[in-house]
This record gives sequence, C-alpha cells and structure tokens, in this order.
Amino acid sequence: MQLKKGKGAERLLPDLHDEAFEQIDCLKCAGCCKGISPRFKTPDIKRISKGLGLKESVFIESYLRLDSDGDYVVKGSPCTFLGEDNMCSIYDIRPGDCRNYPYTDSDEFFKRPNTTYLNSTICPAVYYVLEKLREKIG
Ligand code: SF4
Ligand code: SF4
Repeated sequence: MQLKKGKGAERLLPDLHDEAFEQIDCLKCAGCCKGISPRFKTPDIKRISKGLGLKESVFIESYLRLDSDGDYVVKGSPCTFLGEDNMCSIYDIRPGDCRNYPYTDSDEFFKRPNTTYLNSTICPAVYYVLEKLREKIG
C-alpha cells in the first residue's frame, strides 16, 4: 500500500496501535533491541551515564560508537543493555528512540514511510498495523 495520511488513516492509527500491542508481547520479541540500535542523543547520554554512575566520556567509550550519520549508537548487537530475559537493564532511563519505537502511535508513522516499511520487517506490531490499514483503506 501507499503509506500516506488521508482516507482516515491517521484516525485509525491509535486503535490499531492498541490492537497490535494487545496481541504482541514485546518481552517475547525484542526484535528491535536485537536488530537495530537507538540513537543516543546528548540528553540520553547525560541521563544514562548519570544513572549508571559513569562519566559521560567513560560511558561513550565503553558502550557507544559513531555510525555513518554521525549518531552515537550501541557498539554491540543485540543491544548491550538487553538481558537474557528480553528486559532492558536501563529501562527507566533508556534512550528516547527506545521510548518512541515503533512509532505506531505517532505522526512519524506516516511522515517517514521508508522507515515505517523497514520497521515492518523488524517489528510485528508495525507489520500488523500496515496490514490492517491495507485491509481497511487499501
Ligand atoms: S537501550 Fe534497552 S530498550 Fe533500548 S535497544 Fe537497548 S535494550 Fe532495547
Ligand atoms: S520489534 Fe516491535 S513488538 Fe518487538 S519488541 Fe520491538 S516494539 Fe515490541
């Protein structure tokens, strides 16, 4: 489907987001934490390094690298902070990108169609929402 606002798509999104996450348990998935890294922006770095009791420079040196866009991302994949039980060890202070992912309750879902399509290959909730939108509005 052509992913764009209109035909009431944006009004359907909140319910489809809720529906998707009624059926999908992130703790049984962790696909995002295993497959892609959030960006660690300056406020994220400040908050997380403080939470871990590390100097920012030590936190960066220990856990992060710069990607080709110049953003800090985790060195490892799966994410270093993902536990065996799929819990995030820094959940309360996790990066903003982790809080917002997978954008199924956000305008970003339509604003960045290429990212949304890519996310549908990683995140079953994005796939679900796209399929339902296709069924409902074509
Ligand atoms: S910081 Fe936590 S929520 Fe974010 S990718 Fe890593 S394990 Fe997942
Ligand atoms: S990929 Fe989607 S469903 Fe899986 S853990 Fe991440 S947000 Fe949850």
